[in-house]
Amino acid sequence: MPQEHLFKVLVIGDLGVGKTSIIKRYVHQIFSQHYRATIGVDFALKVLHWDSDTVIRLQLWDIAGQERYGNMTRVYYREAVGALVVFDVTRASTFDAVLKWKDDLDSKVTLSHGKPVPAVLLANKSDQVCSQQPRLDTFCRENGFVGWFETSAKATLPPYNNDGRLATSFCLRR
Ligand code: GDP
Ligand code: MG
Repeated sequence: MPQEHLFKVLVIGDLGVGKTSIIKRYVHQIFSQHYRATIGVDFALKVLHWDSDTVIRLQLWDIAGQERYGNMTRVYYREAVGALVVFDVTRASTFDAVLKWKDDLDSKVTLSHGKPVPAVLLANKSDQVCSQQPRLDTFCRENGFVGWFETSAKATLPPYNNDGRLATSFCLRR
């Protein structure tokens, strides 16, 4: 019998950056143009058959409607073991907000042994612009992100092959 692990992973970032879309793409392989702000908190479960001995259940928390750091996030963050911090490459203000999300996260939750929750930066809507992210290496190093990816919830052609395993392996490194 494979061992099963359940991991709570947060998906945070400003309103409209594509958090819900990334989750829908990753879990259900779908994309919709229709903007529908989610209300409350949404969960999605992604099951990864990691290897013959290991099944990983990722519980993805979409903090819909709480896209304002403060107040309620502490409750949502509880017991998370990874976070995806998303910004929209077409809107600079959402990149400026990334550090506020990271600070909010780090001030409210840690892993059980007190280390920060591993966070991966996602530069979403990368189908909209040419790659322009070499600076993200430095940004991640200086600001405590374990890595970054250019993502698109919309595009399905390479390099956007929806291989979520990469991002996951970062998240799970503790
Ligand atoms: P959320 O508020 O962060 O959950 O953002 P949504 O997932 O609701 O997405 C906001 C809008 O951006 C929607 O109209 C999506 O269709 C669009 N969107 C999300 N991801 C992408 C992407 O990767 N590329 C493009 N072109 N549009 C996207
Ligand atoms: Mg949403």
